Amino acid sequence: MVNKKIQMLVGPTQLPQRVRNAMLHEAMSHRSEEYKEIQHNVTEGIKKIFKTENDVLMLTTSGTGAMEATIQNVFKAGDEVIVPINGVFGELFYDVASGYDLDIIRVEFEYGTEVDVDEVMSHVTDNTKAVLLIHNESSTGVVNNIQKFGEALKDSDTLLVVDSVSGAGGINIEMDNWHVDIVFTASQKALMSPPGISFVALNDRAWERVDEVGNNTYLFNFKKDRDYVHRNLTVHTPATHTMLAVNEALKMIFEEGLENVFERHKKNAKLVRKGVKELGLQLYPKNEAYASPTITTIYAKSKAKYYVNELKKYNIEIGGGKNPLSEDTFRVGTMGYVSENDVIAVLAALKEIVSNEDK
Ligand SMILES: *Cc1c(COP(=O)(O)O)cnc(C)c1O
Repeated sequence: MVNKKIQMLVGPTQLPQRVRNAMLHEAMSHRSEEYKEIQHNVTEGIKKIFKTENDVLMLTTSGTGAMEATIQNVFKAGDEVIVPINGVFGELFYDVASGYDLDIIRVEFEYGTEVDVDEVMSHVTDNTKAVLLIHNESSTGVVNNIQKFGEALKDSDTLLVVDSVSGAGGINIEMDNWHVDIVFTASQKALMSPPGISFVALNDRAWERVDEVGNNTYLFNFKKDRDYVHRNLTVHTPATHTMLAVNEALKMIFEEGLENVFERHKKNAKLVRKGVKELGLQLYPKNEAYASPTITTIYAKSKAKYYVNELKKYNIEIGGGKNPLSEDTFRVGTMGYVSENDVIAVLAALKEIVSNEDK
């Protein structure tokens, strides 16, 4: 029986055949010329994804590792930071920052809405070292307006630190033009690769802060990481085969054209939203103006797991809800390697599931 699987995941995401093939490679020394060339290509690619001229650090860790490393290198005990929270990943940023004796101001927003810039700015003072913001809130499927934050903060001494783990490569982010001071992402979301590597870029103002703080750890020491990336190396053994994967995935992204990739994400997510609304299901974001191009969160009170499990019978894999939203929401990923055909198939299956319920 032919029964092809369809994956519309929220991370780790579907791996294109080309990316999987790129990993079928013999062991590779991470000090070899071959490796260095690959790391160099990946660096140049991620710079284009972040739209920056700044150095890109490569850490052998997941997105949360990049988050923690950033906090460790850029802040010291007592520093005041603001964490806007409009979903579970804002909470994660808060939790990670909480391990470092920072003076953290939580600014909460209703889940399903975007973070309001003016509200956050009303908490910013001369003492505020940074705003720690999620670009794409993967739990609720809401995109926060990074550009507005960059505008609002650019003439202050407050850094804008952005988690674009589920954004970069699927949603436009312009580090340099939008005055983002630090941005990080990870290999396993819109970058269509297995987990294992995260990428962090810092601008000059952020590097000044790193110098002041003087983090002394051996691993995830940004100054040391930068010395190594200047030589196309990493401090310790990187996830070489994930690096091969990202290298191939970036080639695919630039062959399609980055702006075309963004358009495909927007179009597919819009199709998902239109389809689920037609089925009488409810979108979790309160306003489609800020609905995510990479993740559509659907509200289905007490029935979310039912839909996810029913779709499995069609050999369709989507994302469950993120705790504490796991009973009442499920998530359809249009992140990375997803085509319009995938969307159509998922919607057709959902339609059958919903109409069987009515019987
Ligand atoms: C997935 C995700 C993370 C965490 O990344 P891990 O790689 O699982 O550590 C952080 N932030 C956002 C917005 C995410 O979507």
